[in-house]
Amino acid sequence: MARVALVTGGTRGIGAAVCKALKAAGYQVAANYAGNAEAAAAFTQETGIPTFKWDVSDFEACKAGIAEVTEKLGPIEVLVNNAGITRDGMLHKMSPEQWYGVINTNLNSVFNMCRNVIEGMRERSFGRIVTISSINGQKGQMGQTNYCAAKAGEIGFTKALAQENAIKGVTVNAICPGYIGTEMVRAMPQDVLEKRVLPLIPVGRLGEPEEIARCVVFLVADESGFITGSTLTANGGQYMA
Ligand code: NDP
Repeated sequence: MARVALVTGGTRGIGAAVCKALKAAGYQVAANYAGNAEAAAAFTQETGIPTFKWDVSDFEACKAGIAEVTEKLGPIEVLVNNAGITRDGMLHKMSPEQWYGVINTNLNSVFNMCRNVIEGMRERSFGRIVTISSINGQKGQMGQTNYCAAKAGEIGFTKALAQENAIKGVTVNAICPGYIGTEMVRAMPQDVLEKRVLPLIPVGRLGEPEEIARCVVFLVADESGFITGSTLTANGGQYMA
């Protein structure tokens, strides 16, 4: 039987590319999303991949969502923590809603998801967990204390969980993309993108979601069992951590 892979935030952007690449690599894929039903329906129509709606910042919702995916497809052997948001602002102007919104959706979600799959992975002596962190979790970025804290937290979480589960055949890794041409990035003002972002990227362009998807497929492969606790950087040379 094909292994079951669950991708949070799998209906748009990087997550959608990850879902498609995993399907092409032979996995049974489930895509979670938050609430954009139109995008989810279009995604399923295009790919045939089933979608499951729940809020990853809610522990009980993750538990119930994972149970539903498991019932429909089988136990989750590959988890990709991809769902994420930005709520940018300088700290001296940041509201508690901006702070907690980003920490809950980007970081606490990783606990919510991993806590609800890890016991099953340990029992079956196989699991692959990949979390999509960010270049900004490695280097910091003004206007993003909330996002950078969450993304750096994901890297620390990954290393600790990798140590806890290495002996059980479960690998845990993080990917740090640079600027990728998704809605999240294209929402930036065009002049900021052209004058301040692109000149910082040595390859001279934004990354493509498919370039991050390739990294995920590599890390979750059965043959990648010796790679755990790693941070795979894919940023066009912008930051060499
Ligand atoms: P998009 O905004 O294009 O897509 C986000 C996806 O996450 C959507 O499917 C969305 O669902 C889902 N989502 C958002 N909030 C929740 C939630 N609370 N519960 C469940 N699903 C949720 O994002 P990107 O593809 O740009 O980013 C994906 C990941 O990659 C994020 O973690 C981001 O931080 C990271 N990243 C992105 C970079 C980039 O340049 N784009 C660079 C570095 C890291 P819905 O459609 O229902 O809203």
